Amino acid sequence: MTITADLSRCVGAGQCVLTEPRLFDQDPDDGTVVVLDHEPPADLVEAAHEAARLCPSRALAVAVAT
Ligand code: SF4
Repeated sequence: MTITADLSRCVGAGQCVLTEPRLFDQDPDDGTVVVLDHEPPADLVEAAHEAARLCPSRALAVAVAT
């Protein structure tokens, strides 16, 4: 699984950080998302999908390797 963030869409709402702080942080300057682990372990897959689903600007993409 790979997490990517489109910073041009991110509005810095921080919902992803609230959802899973082990995967996401926010830039201290502008609040945009910082992906802490682009290829997280299996036990965080559901949390990554949840964060992407809850992101108000659809800035997060979670791609599952095939
Ligand atoms: S929830 Fe979406 S818009 Fe908000 S900080 Fe995270 S990626 Fe950016």
